Amino acid sequence: MKKNNVPMRRCVGCMESKPKNELIRVAFYEGKISLDETGRAKGRGAYLCRNPECFDRAEKRKAFNRAFRANIDRKDVEALMTEIRNEQE
Ligand SMILES: [Zn+2]
Repeated sequence: MKKNNVPMRRCVGCMESKPKNELIRVAFYEGKISLDETGRAKGRGAYLCRNPECFDRAEKRKAFNRAFRANIDRKDVEALMTEIRNEQE
């Protein structure tokens, strides 16, 4: 196996594994999802590529519900996606 010091995480949009530092972390804590800019927010994390296609895919596939095994309000997901998209500009 190749030695690799960068932890790999899987994007919930395209399901590809990428170095953690290339991905956006979404945190899930106390029933709420939020954009985790520091990568150290409390709660469980899900990861996304910095790619609008992955945001769309994650949203359509309800990837966050699956990643966090919770029923996340569609509005919360939409708000988060808007925040992420704005962040990318
Ligand atoms: Zn992706």
